[in-house]
Amino acid sequence: MLGRDHALSGALVFAALGPSLHVTGSHLAAGVVIAAGAGVLPDIDHPDSTIARSFGFLTEAFAWIVARISGGHRHGTHSLAGIAVFTAGALAAGSFQLSGPRLTGHTAFSWHMVPAGLYLALLYSAAFRALRIGGHHGDLLGIGGAVITCYARWDLTLIPLGHWHVPLLALAIGLGCAAHIAGDELTHGGCPLLWPFSEHEFHLLPRPLQITTARLGENWIIFPLLTGALVLAVWHATGHPL
Ligand SMILES: [Zn+2]
Repeated sequence: MLGRDHALSGALVFAALGPSLHVTGSHLAAGVVIAAGAGVLPDIDHPDSTIARSFGFLTEAFAWIVARISGGHRHGTHSLAGIAVFTAGALAAGSFQLSGPRLTGHTAFSWHMVPAGLYLALLYSAAFRALRIGGHHGDLLGIGGAVITCYARWDLTLIPLGHWHVPLLALAIGLGCAAHIAGDELTHGGCPLLWPFSEHEFHLLPRPLQITTARLGENWIIFPLLTGALVLAVWHATGHPL
């Protein structure tokens, strides 16, 4: 699938779950954009992907390293283990930020917000890039959004999930990555969910219905469906009856 549709699917999953997770306002907005960015995150295993090009050679080099570690494109980062690693990284960054001082007029900076801030900047910029928001200024917009989110601590808001309370950042990243993998499972390629234990490619559709990236089916069926569903989900999540 194209980066654009992966980002839309991540945003859609978070917006659709918004009302049951009781997420509203700025938290909903932050969650939707984080999940959109996480929707392209698993492709960080490919130096030519939308997310790998976010911050030029820095992210391209990082993507090269990820590809080496995860066994190449569409391997480790497209498995259940991959979702767990991305989510655990968010949990670690969130706990580190939480253990630091709350920023005020007197304390304008703390090293504790750097890992979460970098993660957020990467995801926001990737989301804007994939959705072609902000053009050349999309990356700046992403960095600005990450700084605001960190200062306001929207990423640390705890969302009740059964017996657990999960920080918004980790939940949105887990959901966005899962949406990406579900999307790739609609295509001919499939995803090796059980990597590194098995290379078996899982699919969600029988072979004749599997889609080919960027062909008619994706542009004229998947993209309009995702866009329409996202508009409805955001409308509903912002308190309007369907
Ligand atoms: Zn992918």
